[in-house]
Amino acid sequence: MDDSIFTKIIKGEIPCRKVYEDDDVIAFLDINPLSDGHVLVVPKEQIDLIWDLDNETYAHLWQTAKNIAQAIQAELNPLRVGVVVEGLDVPHAHIHLVPLYDRDTLQLHHDYPVDISDERLDNIANSIKERLIAI
Ligand code: AMP
Repeated sequence: MDDSIFTKIIKGEIPCRKVYEDDDVIAFLDINPLSDGHVLVVPKEQIDLIWDLDNETYAHLWQTAKNIAQAIQAELNPLRVGVVVEGLDVPHAHIHLVPLYDRDTLQLHHDYPVDISDERLDNIANSIKERLIAI
């Protein structure tokens, strides 16, 4: 597996504006911020899907995100700090912490709500419920 851009940052091969680091997690400013104080919180282990992290790392990642969000809130005073988990560009799990200074910063890119029949909604709910029993 090739090193992701975030692994290169973790290894010190690429610079970043770091706000936090410990043995398992690093956090730095996003290079293309959606707003002032947009931070990425990243596990050092290079795993694509955040849902595939082991439970301990997952919990630590979110606890770190909470701490940093509170620091952002206190320092930058946004309306609140939003959270996005997307990862469509960088296949290395990460949490976006996006300070929201208005209602538009995280505007979704498509029209919503989508038009879904009641039958389809029932099917979706049931299939997720059944899958959960198997997990
Ligand atoms: P996504 O994978 O869609 O969740 O987004 C990846 C994010 O990583 C984008 O917001 C990029 O601006 C950000 N990003 C990419 N390269 C760097 C970098 N070298 N330093 C900081 N942020 C980066």
